[in-house]
Amino acid sequence: MTLRWPGSSHPEDDFEAWIAQRHQERVLDGSTTPAGPCPDEAFLKSLAGKSKQIALSDPRVGHAANCPICLRRLLELRPAYQPRQRRLVLTAAAACCCLIVVALVMVARHRANPSHSVPEVAAVQETVDLWNAGTLRSDQPSPLQSVSLPAALVKVTIILPRYSEPGRYVVAVTRDQTGNDLLAQSSTVATGNGDRQEVSVDLDLRKSQPGSYFLSTTHEQDQASYYYPLQIK
Ligand SMILES: [Zn+2]
Repeated sequence: MTLRWPGSSHPEDDFEAWIAQRHQERVLDGSTTPAGPCPDEAFLKSLAGKSKQIALSDPRVGHAANCPICLRRLLELRPAYQPRQRRLVLTAAAACCCLIVVALVMVARHRANPSHSVPEVAAVQETVDLWNAGTLRSDQPSPLQSVSLPAALVKVTIILPRYSEPGRYVVAVTRDQTGNDLLAQSSTVATGNGDRQEVSVDLDLRKSQPGSYFLSTTHEQDQASYYYPLQIK
């Protein structure tokens, strides 16, 4: 039976620990004679909790150190006090962490949105010039140069191919050139001077994996979609 106070495990304390253990064994064997009556439970609890209010000169300390009944009770109480002290420290530390996290979240929210007029993420401005681009109808091979956009919130201005009609256009990013697997879509009315038409739309490509896609434009009246190879970086 090992009876040691949970405590220091430094090598220099080993000898003292050994003496304490021998002493404990003698006390528990009944080889010692305690002086005076057994102190009450409250005192033993204070002693187990290493209360600083107890003076080592208190005769009850000397009694408890030599009384098998009191020592057994102390050994029972001791583990309940040590972990509780650690638990309190851990609980306090966890509470501090929670407060810090809450404070950081509030600061972050305040900074991200000090007023509702400021958008959370600034769109990346991109221009795609399709003026000289041929168009890619379904099933036709593509001789085109590839268009490139970042995987970001993009405000893209598309200069439409020559001879494009004015009116409303739907701009979309899709995985293939049949319009399947839509990643982003937006519609707007083309602006232009002369025969040069352009559309400016926001496309949210933040969730897109880099790779090969298609950018399509669809005029609201002729409903024909034109696909341009697109690289998302
Ligand atoms: Zn006693």
